[in-house]
Amino acid sequence: MFNHHLLTQQQKADYKRFREYVKEYVEPFASEWDKQQGVPRSVIEKCAEAGFVGGIIPKEYGGGGWDTVTFGLLNEAFGAASSSLCGLFTVQTMVAMTISRWGSEEQKKQWLEPMAKGKVIGSFAMTEPKVGSDIQSIETTFTPQGENYLLNGTKRWITYSGLADIFLVFGKNEDKSMACIIPSNAPGVKVIPIRDMLGFRGAYLSQLEFTDCLITPSDLVGKPGLVIAYVAPYGLHYGRVSTAWSSTGLHRACVETASSYASERRQFGEPIMEHGLIRELLTDMVVEMEAARSLCLSGSIADDAHMPDAMEKILMAKYYASRAASRAAANTIQAMGAAGCHEENRAAEYYRNAKIMEIIEGTNQVLQRVLGKSFARKYKKKS
Ligand SMILES: Cc1cc2nc3c(=O)[nH]c(=O)nc-3n(C[C@H](O)[C@H](O)[C@H](O)COP(=O)(O)OP(=O)(O)OC[C@H]3O[C@@H](n4cnc5c(N)ncnc54)[C@H](O)[C@@H]3O)c2cc1C
Repeated sequence: MFNHHLLTQQQKADYKRFREYVKEYVEPFASEWDKQQGVPRSVIEKCAEAGFVGGIIPKEYGGGGWDTVTFGLLNEAFGAASSSLCGLFTVQTMVAMTISRWGSEEQKKQWLEPMAKGKVIGSFAMTEPKVGSDIQSIETTFTPQGENYLLNGTKRWITYSGLADIFLVFGKNEDKSMACIIPSNAPGVKVIPIRDMLGFRGAYLSQLEFTDCLITPSDLVGKPGLVIAYVAPYGLHYGRVSTAWSSTGLHRACVETASSYASERRQFGEPIMEHGLIRELLTDMVVEMEAARSLCLSGSIADDAHMPDAMEKILMAKYYASRAASRAAANTIQAMGAAGCHEENRAAEYYRNAKIMEIIEGTNQVLQRVLGKSFARKYKKKS
């Protein structure tokens, strides 16, 4: 149990509810969703009924009005059992919170309530075949046509876009960054599913192709020219909250799997847990899990308190938690030997999903670039 003294009674109760739900409705089936490469829509509907899909959406728009810590706890609980299902909370929140912060009143009224109820699923479409980390260089175009625009371009690796009802698409009109909401069934939209990913196999990744899609001014999100600087980072911030906490959940699943296995498995006449090397692996895993949780909690509490350094703390949490989860997953396989190398055991799935955490919402290197620059400034001794 994650029973931190900094959590409120309400947050502890919510976390308990999330864990109980996951135990009954997620854990027994998650491996099958991974093998089938798709979380069933009925599972998402059930999560929506329980209030999990729109938990962080403000109450005035039909959401749960949760704080960031509670949203994080949801991701921890679900991240331990299904990274693919948790990916839905990630992208739904990225899109909904972007609309809630930067959308027009009409957009909020139109989209947030059905998103909160899980009736509308949203995808965050930034990455393109030629552009990943360097989002300033996106090539998707918004070409003016009278007072409207024509959207053209290709987006790739877009989580849940194979199931989504709307896409939040980022592009440019000449050098002005722009974003719009477009329904997945709008004329000119093509969705091409991507299968056989390393991880997130149940998360409906697709390639999206937009050909002369008509975009009206009321579809635009944020002010043209300010979208990459302000609109996208807001969505990405929530993506990082989700990924950081989900990584700590995955990390916990690794710790539980490795400990159980090492207590049962006997070699050289005793449980392998009695061997120093296995104890060292487990010790590092648990200490790093606690460190990752502390960073997640500190970042989320700062976010809830609107502290100026909240965004940086969340970047740190995502950077550390994703790398720590990856190490934990590798150590779990190590502790299990050949048994960890087969798909009959979930350790292999954890390993595949953990690697993804180091790539999405800013790769390790991109986060080092941003954090390193900020830290150098912050910790430079004044002469
Ligand atoms: C499972 C999954 C789900 C995804 N979901 C979405 C989604 O919903 N929406 C979306 O828009 N995108 C999504 N993505 C794409 C993801 O955001 C990108 O993969 C990520 O931004 C990195 O871009 P890239 O893969 O093109 O790698 P690149 O940017 O081409 O980078 C390749 C390598 O070079 C390194 N690198 C790049 N620039 C630098 C630098 N300046 N210094 C040092 N190293 C550098 C990177 O760290 C990386 O190791 C998803 C990806 C995956 C795998």
